Amino acid sequence: MATSITVGDYEISIIDDHIGATRKPSQVYPDVPDSAWDPYRSFALDETGSWNAQWRGHLIRRTDGTGPKILIDTGMGVGPHEHTGRNGELLDNLAAAGLAPDDIDIVVTTHCHGDHIGWNITDGVPTFPNASYRIAKNDWDFYSKPENTNEMFDINVAPLEAAGNLNLVDGVVELAPGISTYPTNGHTPGHQCVLVESGGETAIVTGDLFHNVAQVTEQTWCPTFDWNTDKSTESRKSLLSRAQAEGWTVCSGHLPSGRSMGKVVDEGGKPVWQAV
Ligand SMILES: [Zn+2]
Repeated sequence: MATSITVGDYEISIIDDHIGATRKPSQVYPDVPDSAWDPYRSFALDETGSWNAQWRGHLIRRTDGTGPKILIDTGMGVGPHEHTGRNGELLDNLAAAGLAPDDIDIVVTTHCHGDHIGWNITDGVPTFPNASYRIAKNDWDFYSKPENTNEMFDINVAPLEAAGNLNLVDGVVELAPGISTYPTNGHTPGHQCVLVESGGETAIVTGDLFHNVAQVTEQTWCPTFDWNTDKSTESRKSLLSRAQAEGWTVCSGHLPSGRSMGKVVDEGGKPVWQAV
């Protein structure tokens, strides 16, 4: 299964950071009864019945080597992480893709949760010194308020302002020809995806629009991490319907590597995931 795809003039590659959290589905989806997982259990949960999430970023660059190098999300960071005792591997995997931190021109943060901003900052300064960091204004405004304290935001997002690398995004913003932000608020106040349209093909990098493959079918299921479940459900349904209708390739934030990129296709009248 794919770890990178081409979309017209662009290549989108998975840059894994780490095998992430393993939890019981009832911890993540408290409103979903255990029996409701039965139709999905064989492929949506692991052999112990647990939900596994992988932490990763995505790299977008032109196949001819020109143009900006865009990194979407930066994983959980250096670690070692309490869940596994292991360190993050994002920079190693970026190097394996032929790029150093200096080479990144744009870092897009889909949202300001810890597992998406972990490598934004190293020792108080931007890990990607030449990059413009595109943070959603709604997330910046929300997490900057003392009542919404988020320690990871304070460490890995707030310093971008003084460093001069912060570039807030309000709505749809073009990042490069054919590449733009795509607001999908709900998981957080400013959650955003990244749309790539080139050569008649379309792909979307979806951050935390959904966390488990079962949600492609059960689009109203919400993890406990969603800030506003009405809005996250609306965003999920709207985007997945459009992806299905228009044949977009979806690059997910947390599905296990090897089947994290896919299409939403019809099977017996229901939308299902078909990995590419
Ligand atoms: Zn996440």
